[in-house]
Amino acid sequence: MDTKPIRDNYLPYGSQWIEEDDIQAVVDVLKSNYLTTGPTVKKFEEEFAEYVGAQYAVSFSNGTAALHGACFAAGIGQGDEVITTPMTFAASANCVLYQGGEPVFADIDDKTYNIDPKKVEELINEKTKAIIPVHFTGQPVALDEIHALAKEHNLVVIEDAAHALGATYKENKIGSISDMTMFSLHPVKHITSGEGGIITTNDKNYYEKLVQFRSHGITRDNDKLIENHGPWYYEMQFLGFNYRLTDIQAVLGSSQLQKIDRFVELRRKYIDMYNIAFNEISQITVPYQAEGCNSSWHLYIIRLNLEQLTGTRKEIFKGLQLQNIGVNVHYIPVHQLPYYQQIGYKRGICPNAEKLYEEIITLPLFPKMTEDDVNDVIAAVKKVINQYRK
Ligand SMILES: *Cc1c(COP(=O)(O)O)cnc(C)c1O
Repeated sequence: MDTKPIRDNYLPYGSQWIEEDDIQAVVDVLKSNYLTTGPTVKKFEEEFAEYVGAQYAVSFSNGTAALHGACFAAGIGQGDEVITTPMTFAASANCVLYQGGEPVFADIDDKTYNIDPKKVEELINEKTKAIIPVHFTGQPVALDEIHALAKEHNLVVIEDAAHALGATYKENKIGSISDMTMFSLHPVKHITSGEGGIITTNDKNYYEKLVQFRSHGITRDNDKLIENHGPWYYEMQFLGFNYRLTDIQAVLGSSQLQKIDRFVELRRKYIDMYNIAFNEISQITVPYQAEGCNSSWHLYIIRLNLEQLTGTRKEIFKGLQLQNIGVNVHYIPVHQLPYYQQIGYKRGICPNAEKLYEEIITLPLFPKMTEDDVNDVIAAVKKVINQYRK
């Protein structure tokens, strides 16, 4: 057997792309008067809102903090249920727990891997307050169906679009559609500010709550003050947090935002290469692409048809690692995580997500990779699948 790996050096599954102009922009802020939340944060928020076509954008120190803010602004509290998907990062559900609410997991659609609106409908009751759909891998959720349910039952919709900057749902950019939409600026996401998060909204009331929440619940806004002792005066009107983004981070986000269309285009080019190569392999199911929507492809996930293979997912995963391919698995269903098990969530509640988890592998996908890198991944996958072909 050929033991030489396809690649000499390790290819990660995701990575940022920082260029000279990004570095220069950060250096310029370091030499300016503002390091923390100042004019650059404001400028970045305006640019971000304009890009997604929303009226307002509020930045946070990370995407998880942003989701926490959205749950606060939506009024989620003790006794409230919020429906989300298990096929996501823990933060999509943790934000509900932070507010004392209860995450309820609706199973995924087996084709799109996104939350299934029919399953959502079955779980709605008088305690349900909101839905947090996640555009898994960047593929837009069936938002028309979700919004119809939200309207009928008076629910707030908070999109977790950590994977979906640059994606469109029926002509509209993700970020312009629901009550609130969250984006993450973590380095593996489409653009980065080191750490960072954003909520976009078209609702002034949500906007103002979010701004106050990320800064201790404090306001200096004359129209909101209950008293006014003088020009120094501020009020802390509810319990908020210090969840602010810094100008150092915001300028990086701002510089990166100018590159988003180029970054997404490169991701799309690479997934086309993957799809063409893997469509021919019956042991692999390639990701579904919904009609009328444009995924922004945060992740490329292959599903193994294990009945046609002599090896397990773990063996194939390890085989790819031996080829120096940075594989990963997204995600362990949230309700299966030990903490969620401890607080009472049972296995078996979301069979589609649980089965999917057993069969998936995430392959490298990021704009800075090259076509040669993509071809290495394809060669490595073919090599490893051939080792285990029935
Ligand atoms: C990355 C991510 C988050 C959290 O974002 P952070 O900026 O890392 O806090 C939330 N939801 C999903 C689906 C994510 O991928």
